[in-house]
Parts: sequence; C-alpha cells; structure tokens
Amino acid sequence: NRRIVLASRPTGAPTADNFRLEEAAVPALQDGQLLLRAEWLSLDPYMRGRMSDAPSYAPPVEIDGVMTGGTVSRVAASRHPDFHEGDLVMAYTGWQEYAVSDGTGATRLPEGFAHPSHALGVLGMPGYTAYAGLMDIGQPRAGETLVVAAATGAVGSLVGQIAKIKGCHVVGVAGGAEKCEYAVKELGFDACIDHRAPDFAAQLKAACPKGIDIYFENVGGAVFDAVAPSLNIHARVPVCGLIAHYNGGSLATDSTALLRSVLTRRIQIQGFIIFDYYVNRPDLHAAFQHDVAGWLKDGSLRYREDVAHGLENAPQAFIGLLQGKNFGKLVVKLS
Ligand code: NDP
Repeated sequence: NRRIVLASRPTGAPTADNFRLEEAAVPALQDGQLLLRAEWLSLDPYMRGRMSDAPSYAPPVEIDGVMTGGTVSRVAASRHPDFHEGDLVMAYTGWQEYAVSDGTGATRLPEGFAHPSHALGVLGMPGYTAYAGLMDIGQPRAGETLVVAAATGAVGSLVGQIAKIKGCHVVGVAGGAEKCEYAVKELGFDACIDHRAPDFAAQLKAACPKGIDIYFENVGGAVFDAVAPSLNIHARVPVCGLIAHYNGGSLATDSTALLRSVLTRRIQIQGFIIFDYYVNRPDLHAAFQHDVAGWLKDGSLRYREDVAHGLENAPQAFIGLLQGKNFGKLVVKLS
C-alpha cells in the first residue's frame, strides 16, 4: 500500500519536501469493515489548510499522518453488510492506495454512474459548494451582474455557468489568456479578465458597466480589491475561499473601510463552509443533484478536468493548484 504522508509543515508555499511517499502493509479486515482501493483522488485547495497547525474549522493532518482527501474507490473486500466487492464508493480515504473503512462517510455511487471522477467535482463537494453558495447566499436574479474568480476551476466554472442559466451577466476572472478564452468561448461567460494583466482593475470595471450585484469570492487579494469599489447597493458576497492567501502573506488591514462600504451600500457578506450545508440542508443537496445532473445531461453545463497520473505525482500537482497551474478540476488517476 503506497501512501503520501505529511513530512513537515510548510512555511509559505508547500514544497516537495513537505510530503513523503511510503509503503505500508494493507491492514487485515475485521467484521463490519471494508477494504477500499482508490481509483481517483481529489486535490483541493482546502488541503493547504490541513497542512498547517494554525487554528481553523477542521483539525490539521498530523506530522507523518496520511494526507486527507476524498477518493472514488472500489470495494476490494467487504465484511460490511451494506457494501459488496466491486461497489464504487466516494469516501475520504486520503492520499493512499488502500484504506480500511467502517463505512462511515462512504457513499455508494449509483449503478451506471457515467464518470466516477465527477463524484469528486461537478457532482460532488466542489459542485455543491458552487450551487449552495450561489443559490442560497448569492440569490441570482435575471439581469444582475455576477463576478467570479478562479473562473475555470471546479467551483468557479459552475458558479458562472449556473448564473448564466439564471439570466445573469457573468464576468469571470482567471489567470492567463487561455483560461479567459475558455471561460467565454466554452463556458459562455460574457467576459473574462486576466488577473495578471497590469490594468486588471480597469478592465474589470469596464466589463461591469452596471456595477456588481454578486461577487462569488474564491481568491481575495488583488481581485477583491478590484471588485469592492464596484459592488452595488444590496450586493451579495458569498465568501467561499481566499486562495490567494493560503500560502501565507499579510492580510490587508483596513477592515473599517470595508465595513463602511458594507454599511452604506447595505452589502451582505457571508462566509460559508460546505460541510454545514451537507449537515443542515439535505433539501438543497437534493436540488443540487437534480439540477446539476439535469444540466450536464442536456448539455447546458461544461465540465473540465485536469488529470494527474499516479499517486507519486499528487504533491507536484497539488503545489501547482496553489499557483494556478491546474486548468479545470484537479484529480489524480491512480494506477
Ligand atoms: P480551482 O479548481 O479553482 O483551482 C484553484 C485556482 O485558484 C487556480 O487554478 C487559480 O486559478 C486560482 N488561484 C490560485 N492562486 C491564486 C492567486 N494567488 N490569486 C488568484 N487566483 C489564484 O479550485 P476549487 O474550485 O476547488 O476552489 C476554488 C475556491 O473555492 C478555493 O478558494 C477553495 O478554497 C474554495 N472552496 C471552498 C469551500 C467551502 O466550503 N467554503 C469548498 C470548496 C472549495 P487562475 O489561474 O484562474 O487564477
């Protein structure tokens, strides 16, 4: 059983030295347990938080502990009444080939689920994040302007496409010309601005002539600074992620200036962690599954994956995710 453990905690951007590839014995099964063999591993920005021991909403990975992560796995053996050999399940088994589970948190994929890796993306946690943050907090209405950054990624690509379905004027923000072109030509956004362009803020303003009604926050930093002056009265800002800050660096300090805008423009800024929606909003989850599966089937949604091959390549792929090197939802195909 090959697995990747946290060798040391990063300061700043993670490096290859923070990870270690190990061999370990495959544990023996007890009654009530199943043995899972991972076929797909999801790589997600939240994993950077788990590498640090700074206080957060979830505990960190221990040093020498297996990196946490969601997988789509095949049941290799089962002594559990609800799972059978050959079943495909989504579970949080981490960066390793084999894991023993008692079934907690393991969800069987329906028979004939067309693309198993989609359970880690558009039909899984990132998809539900986009849907819940947009529909519950963003509350898009036809004719409104929505801006979303990391626009070609797992969450952002879905946010923008759903907002288009709801009749919004959608402006993406992405890193580089190729991603921006994809957002407009393939995802159907009205515009997409490269956040690395020297006149990024001016370009963003020009692309939002009626101001911004919804800003779906994925990155923070310079992107939020460019958005904030254009937020309209009664704008909504679902705060989903701040990836520009995950590797550290200072946070801007002028929080009272921000609060003044929140007051005078009656802006609603709401952070959310998708875990809460899994626990508290089964109704919204059912609506998500119904809507997104339907839109995928009828061709209204595009979904792009960036596939790394082999467990040993997971660290480099993850390091790249925090630098915008991925183009689409990042997953690892295990051999
Ligand atoms: P993506 O597939 O969008 O990949 C991350 C992207 O972030 C990169 O491709 C890059 O896109 C962008 N990025 C990285 N560094 C920077 C930077 N310094 N400045 C600007 N952009 C940067 O990831 P996800 O869709 O999985 O996640 C998107 C966001 O959603 C993250 O902030 C994540 O933490 C958050 N999230 C929050 C959840 C919650 O429960 N609140 C659940 C799931 C995700 P580009 O090259 O276009 O800049």
